[in-house]
Amino acid sequence: MKVIFGPVFLEHDNPAHPENKGRLSLILEELGEWDVVDPEDGEQYLGLCHSEEYVQRIRSLAGSGFLTPDTYYNEHTFRAACYAVGAAVQAARLNAFALVRPPGHHALRERGGGFCIFNSMAVAAKVLSGEGKRIAILDIDCHHGNGTQELVKDDRNILYCSLHQSPLYPGTGLRDEGNALNAPLPAGSGDKEGIRVSEEKFFPAIEDFNPDVVGVSAGFDAYYKDKRPELGNDLNFTLEFYERVAEFLRSYDRFLVLEGGYDPVSILECSKVFLEGL
Ligand SMILES: [Zn+2]
Repeated sequence: MKVIFGPVFLEHDNPAHPENKGRLSLILEELGEWDVVDPEDGEQYLGLCHSEEYVQRIRSLAGSGFLTPDTYYNEHTFRAACYAVGAAVQAARLNAFALVRPPGHHALRERGGGFCIFNSMAVAAKVLSGEGKRIAILDIDCHHGNGTQELVKDDRNILYCSLHQSPLYPGTGLRDEGNALNAPLPAGSGDKEGIRVSEEKFFPAIEDFNPDVVGVSAGFDAYYKDKRPELGNDLNFTLEFYERVAEFLRSYDRFLVLEGGYDPVSILECSKVFLEGL
């Protein structure tokens, strides 16, 4: 599987924040093993999901600070977030893994949050939908992708599926809504529950939807080695869960976009399941 990555994704950074460039430190050491493609600027696609006012607000941010109480920015944030969107679109075309920062699945039309600026996965899905393709999104981050669900909700070409810990930030995704299938799972659920809802609910629904492409919002904060007391993430999945997802993806055109995951070892180990298995 190809990887879309460039140094721009390390420039958005705040070392005191869990979503910092160090997340990628270990996987970058192994980047030489992979077929790496340079990311492209996705600014041209932002209007598919974000208002011009919001885009202009992010574009005009100066220096560094906080966009919301949990979401920081620096002078490189606009460019990094634009390239993250571009990389997601490229990944969708190349069946690749977009190894991007900042993450995107909490970003709404006019509002960032949850460490997210622009919603890379939702924009990529909208690009494909605009070409008449059907896309199923499978969000395996520990948190519900409230932004993605909201941004794709009226699009008949898109199915959104998310499993996530509940209760946990952002508190949404408690039930199925329109084209969104949600599986809230209690803390400590582990592979048994994660694989069960995938096999009983998501995989059959995706098969029925008959997508041209499956996009995975790949957050690795549900992995058992990634537990941040201040974030409360504790789904306790092992590699067995990610291997089951990769096995399902094998019969589809598919791409991945990195979302959360705050432990370099976890990002390395979980990413390799897809990079080596697909
Ligand atoms: Zn997350």
